[in-house]
Formats: sequence, C-alpha cells, structure tokens
Amino acid sequence: MHRLPNPYAVTRFRCAALLLMCKWALVIVSAIMLAYSLCVANPELIKLSISLIWLAVCVGLIIRLFSHRVRCPLCIGLPLVGGACSTHRSVRPLFGSYPLRVALSAVFRGWFRCPYCGESTAIEARRDRSRAAGT
Ligand SMILES: [Zn+2]
Repeated sequence: MHRLPNPYAVTRFRCAALLLMCKWALVIVSAIMLAYSLCVANPELIKLSISLIWLAVCVGLIIRLFSHRVRCPLCIGLPLVGGACSTHRSVRPLFGSYPLRVALSAVFRGWFRCPYCGESTAIEARRDRSRAAGT
C-alpha cells in the first residue's frame, strides 16, 4: 500500500475529503428542504434552502481550489476531482461520483483506492528513510 509523501499532504487530503463530504451533505439536505418547502409553500424555507444551495456551490468552488494539491502518490492524478482521465476498470463510483467514494474511504477507512490507477494509498505520511536508518 502506498503512502502520501509528507504530513502536509495528509492534512490537505483529510481537509479536502471532509469538505467534499460536507458539500454532498449540503446538496442532499438542500434538495430535500427545497422539495419540502415547495410542497408546504413556505417562503422562508425556500429562501433558506436556496441559500444552502449557494453554500454548497461555494464549498464546491473551495474544493476545486483546494483539491488540485491533493494527488495520488503513484499516478499523480487528482482523486478528489472528477477529471477527464479514464478510470481504472475495476473501480466503481458511489452515487455516480468517484471523488465521493475516495473521500468516504479516506475519512472512514483511512485509505483510498485511486480511481485512475486502481492502487491503494494509506492516509499516512511516508517514513523518512534517512531518519529511520539513523544517518
Ligand atoms: Zn493513482
């Protein structure tokens, strides 16, 4: 299993994964709230759900800016950004999203499988070999 290159990459990966999960939660909650508010015709709830949708869009933009420094250590792909690269044949999306599967796996299991190269990576920093050898 591969590891991320340094502790900063681990922090970036965890923060980006949490932001991605927050975005998906906001999208789901705002869609349910918008449907409910349209059914009961409550203008205050409609305003609140629209503001949640805008918040989800803003979080999505932050993720776009933040995730370009979160890369797979093997293929240098962007596992938290849905890209135009072809995916590995054995990796399956979750609710149609490869980044969502990567984020959930990184947060809850502590490792992820890259959707582009198919290799597993632990959310841990590599050990420095020169320090481990004592030189
Ligand atoms: Zn990869």
